Amino acid sequence: MKFLITGFLFLVSISTFSQGRLNDILKASKAIELIVKDSIVSDTLPEVSVRPDIKAEYWDQTVYNPYKELKLQFPLQIQFKDSTYFSPIGKHKVVTSRYGWRWGRPHRGIDIDLITGDSIFAMFDGVVRMARYTSGHGRTVVVRHYNGLETVYAHLSRYGVKENDTVPKGAYLGKGGVSGNARGSHLHLAVNYKGVSINPEYLFKFNDNNTIRAKELWVTKKWTQPAFHNSRRQSNIKPLLTEEEALASLIKQRSIYIVRPGDTLSRISRNNNVTIASICEVNHIRRNAVIRIGQKLLIEK
Ligand SMILES: [Zn+2]
Repeated sequence: MKFLITGFLFLVSISTFSQGRLNDILKASKAIELIVKDSIVSDTLPEVSVRPDIKAEYWDQTVYNPYKELKLQFPLQIQFKDSTYFSPIGKHKVVTSRYGWRWGRPHRGIDIDLITGDSIFAMFDGVVRMARYTSGHGRTVVVRHYNGLETVYAHLSRYGVKENDTVPKGAYLGKGGVSGNARGSHLHLAVNYKGVSINPEYLFKFNDNNTIRAKELWVTKKWTQPAFHNSRRQSNIKPLLTEEEALASLIKQRSIYIVRPGDTLSRISRNNNVTIASICEVNHIRRNAVIRIGQKLLIEK
C-alpha cells in the first residue's frame, strides 16, 4: 500500500516540476501513511474494548445463584473464542465423580482429585463474583466469564483472589482442599450458565490437551439435569453444533425392553445407557419397584 502511494506521488511530482507543490504532496503522503497505519492498528485492537460488561446484571456476592427469577430459553447457545481451556489444576486430571445422580441426590459438577495445597487456576478470563464460604461447597470461588458461563471452584483450603477481581485465563485462584461437605480432598468443579448447571463434560474434555469440544455448542435440558446422568460413568456425549441439530435431538426415541432373568433396574439402566431415574419416570414406577421376568419396560433416549 505504502509503495503504491509513494509511486503514485512520484509520478505526480515529476509532472508538476514545482518544488513547493512537491513539498505539499510529500506532506500529504505522510498524512496518508498515518491514516493507513491508524486503520491497521484499529483492526487489531484487543478484544477488551468490545467485551460486554458482565457485572452489569445479576451481580451479587451473597448468593450462589443470583439468576433465580430468570427464565432461560432452551436450547442454550454457548460460544468460545478459544479451542482450549486452562487446566484448573496443574497436573493430570483424574475425575473421581461425574455430573449426575449420586447417592439419591443430584451432583451438579465433577470432582477432580488433588492434594490439599495444590494450586487452582481460572479456566478462562473473567471477574470473580464470589470468594466466600458456603455450607456445602466450603471455601468457593465463582468466576464469571465473558460468554455468560460461570465456573465454580469448591472445597478450597485457601483463597488467592477476592470478589470483583478481574482475572486472566490461568490466574491463580487459591489452593484446593477439603472444606465444606467433602469426603477427601478434591476440586468440585461446576459450570453454570445464568444459574443453570451444565454437565462440564458436555463442554470440555478433561484430558491433558484441555480441549473445548467446539467453538459453538447448543445445550439442551438433558445436559442441565443430573437425573439424566450417572455420577459413576461418563454419559455418551455427542455435542450439538447447530440450533437445528439441537432441536432435532429433542425428538426422543422410545423402545421396549423385555425383562430377563437376573435383571435389576440398575443392570437394565447400565445395559441400555439410560439412568434408573429416567426408566422410573417413563414407566411410572418407583426405584424400589419389583420387576418381573417378561415385563415390558419403555426405554427413552
Ligand atoms: Zn462434587
